[in-house]
Amino acid sequence: MNNSGWPPTQRVSLLLPPRFDAVARFSMSVRDILKMGDPRLLRVAQPVTQFDTDHLHLLITDLLDTMRAADGAGLAAPQIGVDLQLVIFGTDAPNPRYPDAPPVPRTVLINPVLTPLDDAMVEDWEGCLSVPGLRGKVPRFNHIRYTGHDQYGDCIDRTVEGFHARVVQHECDHLMGMLYPMRVRDFTQFGFTEVLFPHLA
Ligand SMILES: [Zn+2]
Repeated sequence: MNNSGWPPTQRVSLLLPPRFDAVARFSMSVRDILKMGDPRLLRVAQPVTQFDTDHLHLLITDLLDTMRAADGAGLAAPQIGVDLQLVIFGTDAPNPRYPDAPPVPRTVLINPVLTPLDDAMVEDWEGCLSVPGLRGKVPRFNHIRYTGHDQYGDCIDRTVEGFHARVVQHECDHLMGMLYPMRVRDFTQFGFTEVLFPHLA
């Protein structure tokens, strides 16, 4: 998900001496984020078959650095062009884009399986780092169970609701080639962040 409308990282970097900023950026492995229209975002991702490998750990480091640099709330491997069923999300702290939402634990989720626990759907605003500058209201299941593995192959099995459930559904949609505008039902509730939420732009 996208939190780029509120860029504290950039604001902080502006206050830093140029040399410090350059060094900080050089030490990170920030990857380019694919934008909607790129066919690689429409693929159904492949399952991860080997855990706790150098390749996997490096990929996760890249995803975390890229998510942080973009001030995102989550990121899926296909968004940096990697065709694997792997998403990261959560910050362990309140998200400034959703100040009233409970913090979502920092999570690496691989080969996820999502199960809605009832029919209740909730509509709320979403953004996406692959759809920059826009926001839309998206219906999501309110209660879900999700299972999968972390990068070490350990099992994850959680029952969640609300914002946490929304973030997981948004990120896992990327693994099926689905971007949130494809789920928008009411296009009067879709537009530019700078118009809809000027305080976030
Ligand atoms: Zn997204």
